[in-house]
Amino acid sequence: MSDYRLGIDIGGTKIEIVALDAEGQVVLRHRVSNPGTYQGLLSDVKKLVDDAHTRTNPYATVGVGIPGAVDAHTRLVKNANATWLNGQPFADDLQDILGFPVRVENDANCFALSEATDGAAAGRHVVFGVILGSGMGGGIIVDGKPLKGLHDIAGEWGHTPLPWVREDEFPMPKCFCGNSGCLERFLCGPALAESWKGAGNRSVQGIDAEISQKGCTSG
Ligand SMILES: [Zn+2]
Repeated sequence: MSDYRLGIDIGGTKIEIVALDAEGQVVLRHRVSNPGTYQGLLSDVKKLVDDAHTRTNPYATVGVGIPGAVDAHTRLVKNANATWLNGQPFADDLQDILGFPVRVENDANCFALSEATDGAAAGRHVVFGVILGSGMGGGIIVDGKPLKGLHDIAGEWGHTPLPWVREDEFPMPKCFCGNSGCLERFLCGPALAESWKGAGNRSVQGIDAEISQKGCTSG
């Protein structure tokens, strides 16, 4: 029987694995770059799991958070900002390559559930958790369970349109989801960098310094 649990976070630019012991303490943490290809991702996740199994317990269970949703009907990934993940049977392929069952869930749902369980929102009945990174995600937890909705994307607020757009702000920027003017095109890290420094920039470091130099106030 396993007394360790492995959690893997797949982000737009990195993959991180942690191992928790029976008390929920982190006993191992390892981060590598996301290779940016589907086969590369499967093989890198397998390497991380094999290594963690060697260093903890070969029966440690595995849960994976991905920047997208696994469609409950088709089993294919959708709504991922790492767009090469979309349309792939990631959960099934990962189980095949590892040879045992794994749980795959939207990363924002994982984050929101974690905060609702023993984090900033512990004890609250309804929790909305927000992730701002290379994309923009959200998860809704009601009484300790993710509220996924009919299409498994209930908390994904990044693809709702920016409200109160002025006429002179059209045309709105195109989003990978096919729509224009999604919140994600303004508020995720790369979008903030682009509106601050211009197209192609990805770093947001320095925005806070510039704001304080100009004497602006936030909030
Ligand atoms: Zn969108």
